Amino acid sequence: MPIKVLPDEVASAIAAGEVIERPASVVKELVENSLDAGASRVAIKVEAGGKHLIEVADDGQGIAAAEIELALARHATSKLQSAQDLFAIESLGFRGEALSSIAAVSRFELISRPQDQESGRHLLVEGGAKQSLEKVGAPSGTVVRVQDLFFNVPARRKFLKTEPTERRWINEYVTRYALAYPQVRFQLTHDGDRSFQSAGSGDRLEVLKEMFGLEKAQQMIPITPGGDGEIEVSGFISPPAIHRSNRKELTFFVNGRWVQDASLSAAVLQAYHGLLMVGRYPYSVLFIQVPAAAVDVNVHPAKAEVRFEDSRQVFSAVQRAVRATLLREAKPPEINLESNWSPTISDQAGGDQINIAWWDSNERLEAKAGEAAELIPAQRSMSSVPLLRSVGQVGTAYIVAEGPDGLYLIDQHAAHERILFERLMAAHEAGEPESQALLEAVTVEFTPSEAPLLEERLTALAQLGFKVEAFGRHSYRVRAIPAILGGLSPERALRTVVEDFEGDEEPLSGEVEAIIAARVCKRAAIKTGQVLSLEEQRRLVRDLEACRSPRTCPHGRPTMIHLSVEALERQFGRRG
Ligand code: ADP
Ligand code: MG
Repeated sequence: MPIKVLPDEVASAIAAGEVIERPASVVKELVENSLDAGASRVAIKVEAGGKHLIEVADDGQGIAAAEIELALARHATSKLQSAQDLFAIESLGFRGEALSSIAAVSRFELISRPQDQESGRHLLVEGGAKQSLEKVGAPSGTVVRVQDLFFNVPARRKFLKTEPTERRWINEYVTRYALAYPQVRFQLTHDGDRSFQSAGSGDRLEVLKEMFGLEKAQQMIPITPGGDGEIEVSGFISPPAIHRSNRKELTFFVNGRWVQDASLSAAVLQAYHGLLMVGRYPYSVLFIQVPAAAVDVNVHPAKAEVRFEDSRQVFSAVQRAVRATLLREAKPPEINLESNWSPTISDQAGGDQINIAWWDSNERLEAKAGEAAELIPAQRSMSSVPLLRSVGQVGTAYIVAEGPDGLYLIDQHAAHERILFERLMAAHEAGEPESQALLEAVTVEFTPSEAPLLEERLTALAQLGFKVEAFGRHSYRVRAIPAILGGLSPERALRTVVEDFEGDEEPLSGEVEAIIAARVCKRAAIKTGQVLSLEEQRRLVRDLEACRSPRTCPHGRPTMIHLSVEALERQFGRRG
């Protein structure tokens, strides 16, 4: 075929495909336009998950009659004049592509009137072709109505997901923008039913309550104000007691724009390092304000990604803000004798675990990269364990110990889990896991569905000091186990490795080892019900003191609780 310049409709359809992928992208672009127009009210009406209708109405500045057709031209924008402006973008839009793209693939209506004009205009376009333009009476502001999205691009229409999925995406966009613009009143209806509403009061916590429900929203911790002047971080994070099985609730806004960014997620996760059990993730809603010149927002047509001039600086600002907030909130556990104390509450509805937190801020802050080293060293000792003196054992489960500031009850099983876990991981990280050969190799049989799971994790097992080899179709033979785990049953250890990995999250590299280590240490640890001699109790307490994160077991449960001298004095009526 000879080379030809594509006809305009074809070029438009190709371009439209990049900007408008699904109904939610239409909602996003239209809402961004309303926000750019300074609206204080945005009402979104959706039918059939956006396949039939998407309507966005605002009370913003409107479009002048003379410009109404121009607004739909490709690369027509009022937000950018020169390429230079690209580096100082304050608006959400700037590419001048959204309206033309949407109009190219739908039956499109635009009704708009600026406040200072008497009448509005009503423009009708189908599949990119103008049908009519009329003068109409209209309230000031803009209404865009998009019907039958992709009616002229059957291939796209076919690939749309089910209505509930599209609805979910739309809700996600609208709630995110409501959070970023709390002073704007948002209203979203699906098929006539109100699905979300924000008050426009300017209070982000109000919006969070709509999003997460009252209980969870109230537990979210506001980020401690701070920052280095250049980069400001604000927003909310979940306490370590609230977590989920994937990282989908890590939300970031850069200069008011919702973005997806793996390195920002990594910064948050690193700040939680040691506070959450492996394979669990926090919730966060963070607003990052950087000078417009320090961020390139023109990376992708959908504007969902950004590039920072100095991404390390942004990374460490986020990581520091989150970590400092967590440390500030960290309180040593205390027994409250007045109230009915319960260690775990299960939030069934949300499917998320809520544990009463036993926070450990003495995690090795110097973790991984240098970034963490900037963290406030003064707070490091805050929740480390003081020197303890074991007094005895109660219920063949807990060790009673005395410290300088009162009484400690230590869960012998959880404590031993922590000790074994840190030793195993330390040996692994040093690259010298010590194996202890079994007197007799043990053969373990798996089902056909389990065997591949084990196969995948053989390397991780080897790195922890296990020597395991395939032995027949679905059988494996254990020749050695990590020396630290002396009394562990090789068979039980191997079986725990193929148990479900949490949720739908692909573990990060390195996480697999940690998850396996946590599981086998649970199997190898001293059990509840085991009588310990005073010497054994003392050794356990001493080993726990030496841990980097002595206050929680590798699964996030507390290893100890504290009864302060003051609390005792209150109880005995010696204090006010
Ligand atoms: P961009 O937002 O990148 O400028 P769009 O295609 O989304 O491009 O919109 C084109 C232009 O139409 C905008 O620059 C703006 O001037 C105008 N416009 C679009 N939507 C609205 C609205 N809701 N209120 C006022 N003006 C609007
Ligand atoms: Mg736009």
